[in-house]
Amino acid sequence: SNPIREREKTPEDAIDTHLRPQRLEEFIGQSKAKQNLRIFIEAAKARGEALDHVLFAGPPGLGKTTLAQIMSRELGVNFKATSGPIIAKAGDLAALLTNLEERDVLFIDEIHRLNPAVEEVLYPAMEDFQLDLIIGEGPAARSVKIDLARFTLVGATTRTGLLTTPLRDRFGIPVRLDFYNQDELLEIVKRGARVMQIGIAEEGALEIARRARGTPRIAGRLLRRVRDFAAVARAAIIDAKLADKALSALDVDSRGLDSLDHRYLTCIALNFGGGPVGIDTIAASLSESRDALEDIVEPYLLQLGFLNRTPRGRLLTPHAFRHLGLAIPQRPEI
Ligand code: ADP
Repeated sequence: SNPIREREKTPEDAIDTHLRPQRLEEFIGQSKAKQNLRIFIEAAKARGEALDHVLFAGPPGLGKTTLAQIMSRELGVNFKATSGPIIAKAGDLAALLTNLEERDVLFIDEIHRLNPAVEEVLYPAMEDFQLDLIIGEGPAARSVKIDLARFTLVGATTRTGLLTTPLRDRFGIPVRLDFYNQDELLEIVKRGARVMQIGIAEEGALEIARRARGTPRIAGRLLRRVRDFAAVARAAIIDAKLADKALSALDVDSRGLDSLDHRYLTCIALNFGGGPVGIDTIAASLSESRDALEDIVEPYLLQLGFLNRTPRGRLLTPHAFRHLGLAIPQRPEI
């Protein structure tokens, strides 16, 4: 199994679609994003127009897909979903676009991974609701324009900076999603337990919330794992002790860090004396891609205050050394 891939969507996550909140008011947290979206949705509905294109940015599992679905439901329009790497050819995107009805939401996950030829087709579609297609090849080639329904493109990406400037500029509504705080995650765990009909004590839910790495998708996964553990242990109610035992067995530590986080942190601590060390060097030493480390591993470690980004590279903080149970190097940087 690939630990980087596991942080993204797995087939198991796709099954529990009933876990997804259906309405904006059921969506927990991200209050600023919700407030803005509510206003834009109401305004678009009042005008009877398509909502402006929306770009969600943030680490995996924070609710980008869920919010896109909620938007289509609030707007009362169809929801079509695809993802950047799936759309191989310009023709594939053209087929999707020509099938949209007025004001529909087209969701493109991992939009930064669109291939450039496909991206070219998207520009006039987003701007003028037109397709510019080249039919045929060589001297016989000609271009045709096709009118499209006025649709709303909702794009999702881990980092806005990964998009090309022309694509980024065509989104009228950029929305950044942040990690969830403990209270919000606690509510998400309790809601999940209600939906899945799992008996859980407040302290048990809190233990999961604390160790969910700020991420609803992880909270859901941990809840399912702990439930399995409880079933085997024949426990009717998940309390803090049971949750802790289950999570420790899963290699999720007291702050929610897993084996991938530990590999990353110990690599800097032990191989590079705590840093500063360049991200490319870390990536090579872990045999992981730089992008994956930057988008999937580092954000939460930065948020925890375990890591600093300095002009000279990544630097572990004393908190990180303490958490790893290692002596703090006596060096001016650290
Ligand atoms: P992303 O598209 O950002 O990777 P998803 O929208 O697929 O994330 O969300 C991952 C999981 O977390 C889904 O199962 C979803 O139901 C759940 N989830 C996300 N945000 C929330 C939230 N605010 N409240 C409750 N559950 C949430």
